[in-house]
Amino acid sequence: MDGNFSLKEFQELVDDVLIRHKSILDILSKVQESSARVNRSVAKASTNCGCIKIHAEKPDIPDDVTFSKLKSYMSNHVEGDLCHTCEEKIKQEISNNLFYLFALCNNFEFDVEEMTEEYYKQLKLLGKYGLL
Ligand SMILES: [Zn+2]
Repeated sequence: MDGNFSLKEFQELVDDVLIRHKSILDILSKVQESSARVNRSVAKASTNCGCIKIHAEKPDIPDDVTFSKLKSYMSNHVEGDLCHTCEEKIKQEISNNLFYLFALCNNFEFDVEEMTEEYYKQLKLLGKYGLL
């Protein structure tokens, strides 16, 4: 891939290749289905492959912690590293999910580059306070 790849190119390609699931109902259900497949691929890395372990527990956060120090008490609950196969599977599922999110944007003629640039500016301005 050359360094000139852009979100706009991807958005245009999604529009070119999406023929069968053009209905907004198909797109919405494919967004949801592909999102579930992302979750399943991560779960399978733990439960089927075993390259990672997911060890979730309530964080032990002192009552007087400041918001700026809170991040240091948080964990992603993942132990180990993804093997190559699981990493590729998860990336493929995320890409498929992005495909349908871009298709949703195309349906309403939203410019993804404009959207992400606006969101980027919002995050830069508001930082962690800007998250929904
Ligand atoms: Zn694995």
